[in-house]
Amino acid sequence: MADPFFVPVSGFDLPRFAGVPTFMRLPHVPPEHPRFDEVEVALVGVPWDGGTTNRPGPRHGPRQLRDASTMIRAQHPASGIRPFEAARCADVGDVGPNPASIPDSLKRITAFYEMLRGNGIRPLTAGGDHLCSLPVLRGLADQPLGMVHFDSHTDLYKDYFGGEQYTHGTPFRRAIEEGLLDPKRVVQIGIRGTMYDSEDIEFGESVGVRMIRIEEFFDRGVDAVMAEACQIVGSGPTYVSYDIDFVDPTYAPGTGTPEVGGPTAYQALQVCRHLTGLDIVGADLVEVSPPFDTSGGTAFLGASLMFELLCAMVAGREA
Ligand code: MN
Ligand code: MN
Repeated sequence: MADPFFVPVSGFDLPRFAGVPTFMRLPHVPPEHPRFDEVEVALVGVPWDGGTTNRPGPRHGPRQLRDASTMIRAQHPASGIRPFEAARCADVGDVGPNPASIPDSLKRITAFYEMLRGNGIRPLTAGGDHLCSLPVLRGLADQPLGMVHFDSHTDLYKDYFGGEQYTHGTPFRRAIEEGLLDPKRVVQIGIRGTMYDSEDIEFGESVGVRMIRIEEFFDRGVDAVMAEACQIVGSGPTYVSYDIDFVDPTYAPGTGTPEVGGPTAYQALQVCRHLTGLDIVGADLVEVSPPFDTSGGTAFLGASLMFELLCAMVAGREA
């Protein structure tokens, strides 16, 4: 029987449009809360887009994702998983970045995730732009991790604008250089769009990253691609990073770097369902940019993807 404290507020008890919006209507349990040490999976907001190089806005993502996530109910429609009964989940609040400093923001976010790891808490993060994943990995990785990465872009660029190291196009280059990721256990799915050059792809291939470009994704289909992805990361500790621009901009226009010719909303959900059974130490959903989709549709897809990721994180771990 799930502890009622950690069960989201039901739409039968308080209408979904009422109340203070936390992620999925979970209790708000910040680190100073007396029950913080009981949390097993933390939903975390990282409202920071200091790594964005073109169209900013994901700093507003967590707030819109919280609002959209009040639509999420208790049970997965296909698998029947009830994640809030399988693990003690909570909205632990936002990591406060320094909007005027990239280095200080990286430090603050890293410290927060180190604290989560020290408490044995696995995070499900709402970004923020994709640079957020680097300090998250710095905080979480006590050994090189595998990673399943959904994105239009490799985010493996060496640098930007004359040597800048920290942008949302470089996080996984840094993570591999720093030994946070084992490149031979990294798979990137959905890569497409026009490019500056092939430097990122060549780097990835040279260190053993498996890149499944969109042509191959559609040629082989979700089942075959995801079976291979799960085989690549294997049974070791694995991070899942989900850039909303993986999805076709028809379904997810609210993002800074959209690329046409991508998966549908249904395929976007489907890929997550194959992650069940992996040893997922953390996951994120990044690059939702409310200013580019004031309808909130992108955020609702993002919140739904967070629910899919949460189910994959807790499935099979029921006490
Ligand atoms: Mn990205
Ligand atoms: Mn991207």
